[in-house]
Amino acid sequence: MKFDYLIVGAGLFGAVFAHEATKAGKKCLVIDKRNHIAGNIYCEKIEDINVHKYGAHIFHTSNKKIWNYVNEFAEFNNYINSPVARYKDELYNLPFNMNTFSKLWNIATPAEAKAIIEKQKADLNISEPKNLEEQALSLVGTDVYEKLIKGYTEKQWGRDCKDLPAFIIKRLPLRFIYDNNYFNDRYQGIPIGGYTEIVEKMLEGSQVELGVDYFEFKKLHPDIAEKTIYTGMIDEYFDFELGHLEYRTVRFETEVLDTDNYQGNAVVNYTEREVPYTRIIEHKHFEFGKQPKTVISKEYSSEWKPGIEPYYPINDETNGKLFEQYKELADKEENVIFGGRLGNYKYYDMDKVIEAALDCAEKELA
Ligand code: UDP
Repeated sequence: MKFDYLIVGAGLFGAVFAHEATKAGKKCLVIDKRNHIAGNIYCEKIEDINVHKYGAHIFHTSNKKIWNYVNEFAEFNNYINSPVARYKDELYNLPFNMNTFSKLWNIATPAEAKAIIEKQKADLNISEPKNLEEQALSLVGTDVYEKLIKGYTEKQWGRDCKDLPAFIIKRLPLRFIYDNNYFNDRYQGIPIGGYTEIVEKMLEGSQVELGVDYFEFKKLHPDIAEKTIYTGMIDEYFDFELGHLEYRTVRFETEVLDTDNYQGNAVVNYTEREVPYTRIIEHKHFEFGKQPKTVISKEYSSEWKPGIEPYYPINDETNGKLFEQYKELADKEENVIFGGRLGNYKYYDMDKVIEAALDCAEKELA
């Protein structure tokens, strides 16, 4: 066999694994069906602006080890994500914090905000939230739910908030201080030079082949490596034999505009149901860009269908059960390790992907 590892997918999981394995003296072949590396963190320069081609990625973590690790590959700027939500003509700061509440209710103190939320909750009588709607209502009350959560979430997931798991909304902080930092994590930033360069560095020393479909490749080269690290869709690996897992996909409408500043913020969420897109990203603001033009992307969320890119696993009960069945098959698959958002069918953030890949490498290479 020519290689120790065949790594399917040149995204973050595959790249971290490849880097660790190469460091340990292993030979890696990394293939990807796209014609570029870096998976969904791929950036492309347009008008000298790093455009996040597959959706905005803001690196954040509380894990010092992971922060130190990514800093080996890039220097990070001091960007702090503070999205603005637009509901009809009203603008609110996110995440839900005193700036949001004071604008909503014309109040000033945490006690006033808490009293309003408590009053709205009291009428609802939710003891243990069973779904995203109940979770949201019991955290922030009806006003915030109706204006800032319901429409956005239903657009993003294409499902009623009652049919979605509560944990999705727990990703967002709720604070009774005037603080618009979207994340609670200790470390945060955007890599100077973009994400693609990080992955490029991680893949140094590996052989990389792009535009290669794994399933075709496997037929032609069944014995090319001792082991396979597979980061594609787990259900596709098994030819969907137990049925399809569901995914959400995102379509981006990217435009170059002849203005230096279109919306004054990197992320503006459109939280009303009637606007068809979920958010508009203005890429230059991730890097405090001073270019004369600007690039914006409108994000449209829809159900995944074969032939398009999957983005988000849908971690509801039905899909969770089906994934467990695929997981049983995967565990029986000798010499194949499944990793990443699609391989593990998990709504991973980037730091969690790196952590999982490092754990995997540590076990594997021990
Ligand atoms: N969310 C919301 N309103 C917003 C932003 C987020 O209700 O303005 C909810 C929505 O359910 C979403 C979840 O919070 O799916 C997580 O949002 P996040 O921004 O973390 O999602 P990502 O950036 O991963 O798409």
